[in-house]
Amino acid sequence: MFDRSGLPSAVTIYEVGPRDGLQNETVILPTAVKVELIERLAASGLPAIEITSLVRPDKVPALADAEELLSALAPLLDSHRMVVLVPNQRGLDRALSAGVREVAVFASATESFAKANLNSSVAESLATYRPVIEQARAAGLLVRGYISMCFGDPWEGKVSTGQVTRVAESLFEFGITELSLGDTIGIATPGEVINLLDALDSRKIARSSLAVHFHDTYGQALSNTLTALLEGITTVDSSIAGLGGCPFAKSATGNLATEDLVWQLQGLGIVTGVDLEALIDTSNWLSRKTGLPLRSKAAIALSNRKDGSK
Ligand code: MG
Repeated sequence: MFDRSGLPSAVTIYEVGPRDGLQNETVILPTAVKVELIERLAASGLPAIEITSLVRPDKVPALADAEELLSALAPLLDSHRMVVLVPNQRGLDRALSAGVREVAVFASATESFAKANLNSSVAESLATYRPVIEQARAAGLLVRGYISMCFGDPWEGKVSTGQVTRVAESLFEFGITELSLGDTIGIATPGEVINLLDALDSRKIARSSLAVHFHDTYGQALSNTLTALLEGITTVDSSIAGLGGCPFAKSATGNLATEDLVWQLQGLGIVTGVDLEALIDTSNWLSRKTGLPLRSKAAIALSNRKDGSK
């Protein structure tokens, strides 16, 4: 019997497919399909879903229907944890008028990615976020922070833990309620995960307020996740069908697939609340709607097993 000491008894899976996933795919889904996707994900038991981004519609055409989507999902905004990314004050204003309960802001550990993705320096982007976070908190919203490029950056190479802890401390000082540590190019290995979590620990940042966001570019996402769980992390980001390639690593393999994560956690006896069979049905439905092949290994294996039993 595997000794589970050190592992949490329950894990919160934070589903990023509808936002992080679809934003980075070339296929643009009709609003009605996105609505059905999100309803299916919620119905399968996923407790937290990032559903869209309130960026300028011309900047991210795949998510240009954010308001329409939010209005169609209005009942779910109250009953489920549904999170919307906001890039600035204008985005927060739109989120507030749409009745959103939780927003997310997206910071970078490195200057190169801040310049490429946010068109500002790290300090400038934090200065933009400060009033957004403060105002959101004052309005009673939860705020999730992201830090991307936490382990490596395509322009700068290795990222020091100090670069990450500096940004993390600022975001928590501004009032974020959860921080997701992004391995945006999927380059981390388990030892580096431990080093970063130790560094955050030394700055008195509680592990209960942290989430991990791994990409499978180098095949390390599940190893890194298991390492993070053994280190006391209990919130893990993943994406249905592994949606979302990585635009900076020229790889088809992007976000950790939710199906693979659920398979692992279920095998470990860790409670997620997710019905894996319902999730696999949604993977197959989504694959038909998008024309994209199944990318989750667990989804492929379980779907084949199902077909074989017919
Ligand atoms: Mg991602």
